[in-house]
Amino acid sequence: MTSVALGVPTLRKDNGLDDAEYGHSGVDLDLHSQEMKAMRAGEVASVHSWELVTAVDGPGTRMTLFLSGCPLNCLYCHNPDTLKMKDGLVYSFDEIWDRVSRYRGIMRATGGGLTISGGEPLMQPQFVSRLLAKCQEAGIHTALDTSGFLGRRATDAMLDNLNLVLLDVKSGIPATYKYVTGRELQPTIDFGTRLSEHGNAMWVRFVLVPGLTDAVENVEAVAEIVSNWKTVERLEILPFHQMGEQKWEELGMTYTLGDVHPPTTALIERVRAQFEAHGLPVTVG
Ligand code: SF4
Repeated sequence: MTSVALGVPTLRKDNGLDDAEYGHSGVDLDLHSQEMKAMRAGEVASVHSWELVTAVDGPGTRMTLFLSGCPLNCLYCHNPDTLKMKDGLVYSFDEIWDRVSRYRGIMRATGGGLTISGGEPLMQPQFVSRLLAKCQEAGIHTALDTSGFLGRRATDAMLDNLNLVLLDVKSGIPATYKYVTGRELQPTIDFGTRLSEHGNAMWVRFVLVPGLTDAVENVEAVAEIVSNWKTVERLEILPFHQMGEQKWEELGMTYTLGDVHPPTTALIERVRAQFEAHGLPVTVG
């Protein structure tokens, strides 16, 4: 990840930070407790961490909030410690809003805002809806970083409160998508189409993994899907890197991409040219 942490504490208890030092009251999540009810009401969220980032996850300086839980299982996941909702810490809506509010000055000064990421934020749609609505009331730019797999959970009201959607299109071929993520491609296509029809600005993200997603026909398939969406402002090629491997090992999970190298400049340029041939505005992350 190219984000720059600016000394902002994360919420995880295993990050070496002292809870008291940062004054938060996150508690360990018991999925069979009252918290599930409160979660469904959008009163609390299972949170992995947050950080301030600049020039990633949307325009300006942003607070990116990482929610816990994800239905996908991407082979290259950089944040496997966000996959289980029960591994997060429960925070109340007010606690999170208090944190967001603290950054309003820098958000305003830089043209930034809030990005809700994960994990998969649409695992907790009620909380996300509330937070987006609150941000819009306060004039804070909003972005959602999502795979789109749970796009049906996003209400039209939620879409109305989104200034930007960072939509991951991990493959354009259903079988490849399934191999990479363990899930189906179609929900992401459906969500992208809906976002386009709804008028939501999108930055589409494509992780370029040699030997996994770099086939000419796969890139063409992604390009054809994305070309159908009229509100795409940019297509970001994110070159694969190995930053997540150590986390997989620490979690006792089997990481299968240990021998994969980052894409060469030549490969990145080939993929860029393919996308640009479809008229897509490409950036390389
Ligand atoms: S969607 Fe994101 S968080 Fe979920 S498994 Fe894939 S890379 Fe990891």
